[in-house]
Parts: sequence; C-alpha cells; structure tokens
Amino acid sequence: MSFDDILAQASALQTLQRALERDRLAHAYLFEGPSGVGKQKTAMALACALLCPEQPKLGCGRCSVCVRVLEGKHPDVRVFGPRDEGNRNLQVELVREEILPFAKFAPFEAKAACVIFPEADVSFPVQHAEAANALLKTLEEPRANVTFLLLSERPDRLLPTIRSRCQPVRFGALPASVVKEIMRARGIDEAAIELAAGLAFGSADRALSLAQDGLAERLLQFALQVDAAVQARRPGALLELADELAGSDDRALLLDALRLFYRDVASCAVLGDEAPLAFAAHAELIRKRAATLGAARAADQQRAIAVTCEAMERNANPEVALDALFFSFA
Ligand SMILES: [Zn+2]
Repeated sequence: MSFDDILAQASALQTLQRALERDRLAHAYLFEGPSGVGKQKTAMALACALLCPEQPKLGCGRCSVCVRVLEGKHPDVRVFGPRDEGNRNLQVELVREEILPFAKFAPFEAKAACVIFPEADVSFPVQHAEAANALLKTLEEPRANVTFLLLSERPDRLLPTIRSRCQPVRFGALPASVVKEIMRARGIDEAAIELAAGLAFGSADRALSLAQDGLAERLLQFALQVDAAVQARRPGALLELADELAGSDDRALLLDALRLFYRDVASCAVLGDEAPLAFAAHAELIRKRAATLGAARAADQQRAIAVTCEAMERNANPEVALDALFFSFA
C-alpha cells in the first residue's frame, strides 16, 4: 500500500504529496468525502510516507516500518475508530487517557507520529461536545512531527471549531469505471459488477457489499415489485410492500434502488438511448417503463422517495412515512 495504490483521487493526493515534498504538512487534515473512495487508504499511505526510512516522503509500503504501520502494530501510528456500542461516540476519558498523552509524547520510535480518526464525525459528533473539546486542545497546540488525520463522510456533523483547525482535503466519488476495475480485481463476475457499480454511488466498499450474495439483484427485484404494484394500481399491495420495507434491515439500500429505478425511468424518458443508467443491464425494461410512466411522474416519484428518506433520517416513523409514500404512488 502506497500513494500509487489510490485510484482516482489525483487532487487530494497532489495536495498531500506537495506538502510532504516541501515539508509543509499541516498539523491536522480533514479528509472529506463519501465512504469507500480511498480516504482511509490515503491516511495509511500518508502515515507510511511520514515514517518510512526506505523511501522518506513517499512510503515504500514494504519495509518493516511500513508493514507495521499498515498492520496497525507501529507504536507511532494510532487509529481511533468509533466505539462498537451505543451511539459510537468516543468518551472523553479515552481522549484524556490515550489520545492526549500520545499526542504529547509521540513519536516513540520513528521520526514522526500520526493519529487517524476514521469516521471522525461519528467519534466526535457535535451533540457530544465534551470529547471533541478535549481533542480540540491538542489541535490548538500543535506539536511538530505529530499529524492528525480526521476522516469524515459528514464533516458538517463535526464541531466548527474542530473543522477550523484542520486543513480540508476533498475526496470525490469514484468514476464507475474505477469501481468496476476494483471489483474485477476481486474476481467478481461481470453481471454482478454492472448492477452493483450502478447502485454504488462511486463507493468501492458499497459496490463490493452490493455484489455479495446477490444483494444488488435483490434490490432491483424489490424495485420492480413495487413498480408492478404501481402499474397495476393496487394500493393494498403497495401498503404491504411499504410494511415489508419499513421492517427491513436493508431499508436504506432498497429505497436507494427504488429511487435510482425511477431516476433511470425519468432520464430515459427525456434522453432516450443516451441516458446514463444505474440499471444499465436492464435498459430495455427501463425504456418500456419510461414510455408508459413518463418523465414528469417518474421524476416526481424519485423526488418523493428522496424527501421521505430525509424525513426518516430526521427520525420520522418509517411505517407512517413509507405508507404515505407508497400510497402517493397508487
Ligand atoms: Zn517503507
């Protein structure tokens, strides 16, 4: 693992590599961007570049120092993910007893040290400010040779005071071609790759989990089942599907699939064969549906799904919200 292994994040890598070359690394960085696009890999590659004695400022990824960094066994690189239990935020005791002493006394062995917070917004959410404020103290009193890397999908959920202490580095969604390349390298078959990449929103992690056990295919089948009930104008069947969805562990994924299905139908109705489709493998079916549903209604249904998802994120009752959504389709 080195910078060369990170795909399609040229601008983020350029920022970091230029700073390394010029010895102008910031004390703290905030890697912002969707999950599964290479933020964590980049953090590990940067830690290697800081510590590697073989290829300083680059990281070889192979020497004993790099290998220990990558295996999580080097004393000068610590990774603090969210807790496994509860709302997963880090407790202030952990910050005081482990993180602050590390930041104060490291490096212990190499010439530099690195503290990495994957999912920093989950570990230090705005509504649990005590731990975040304790962390803020070290961010405000930087020490040479200790670099903080905060990784976040939702930087808006971090305290503004934390954000303002970090230099932002933006990571974009991966192009579908790169997601497919990553999946091919894992030996996934082409049909599964096509469907999973379409539903992955440019996240390699998401694509890989969608390709597992035919999950992407199941999501598509659910979307088709809902749409069949819409076409048949069967409110009873739609409400049954809404209840099934409300109780499903894959609710968010199923709703994404349904939304993408109607987005495909809408764009196919407008752009015809030129439309870029998430469900490209089912273009014929989408085309037929575009002819009967029409662009405006498909776009309305897509929007209604997005609005319902946002409402549920803000704690709306899923059963009530989904009943209302599916009833509006009938
Ligand atoms: Zn090395």
